[in-house]
Amino acid sequence: MSEGDCLFCKIANQEIHANVVFEDDKLVAIKDIDPVAPVHILLIPKSHRASLNATTAEDIELLGHIQLTAAAIAKKLNVAEEGYRLLCNCGPAGGQAVMHIHYHLLGGRDLGWPPG
Ligand code: AMP
Ligand code: ZN
Repeated sequence: MSEGDCLFCKIANQEIHANVVFEDDKLVAIKDIDPVAPVHILLIPKSHRASLNATTAEDIELLGHIQLTAAAIAKKLNVAEEGYRLLCNCGPAGGQAVMHIHYHLLGGRDLGWPPG
């Protein structure tokens, strides 16, 4: 899929509306449209990469920034202390549906392990 047709590129550049909870120059964090937990936030880098498989050593700062931002959002949404999960679905077996790298921040309930 080209970047021009990419749903999350369109959300990141505000061509498509989303419920934004945080934004900076590198990423946007939005409420998932079909939440699977009381807190379900997607952290989406503004620049397109299809998946974690498409990242390189040049993305180390971005990937670290996503984790630190997720921790700050978890705190802001009051799930930091009880705990939460940050995950990146990669590829078909990993459950990735939207081919623009993103991380799910899930919280507000016991999430269980292992995942389905
Ligand atoms: P994944 O399966 O990891 O690719 O996750 C894609 C996520 O994007 C799913 O949890 C969807 O519910 C979510 N999603 C799809 N379209 C939208 C949208 N327009 N706004 C917010 N979340 C969306
Ligand atoms: Zn994209």
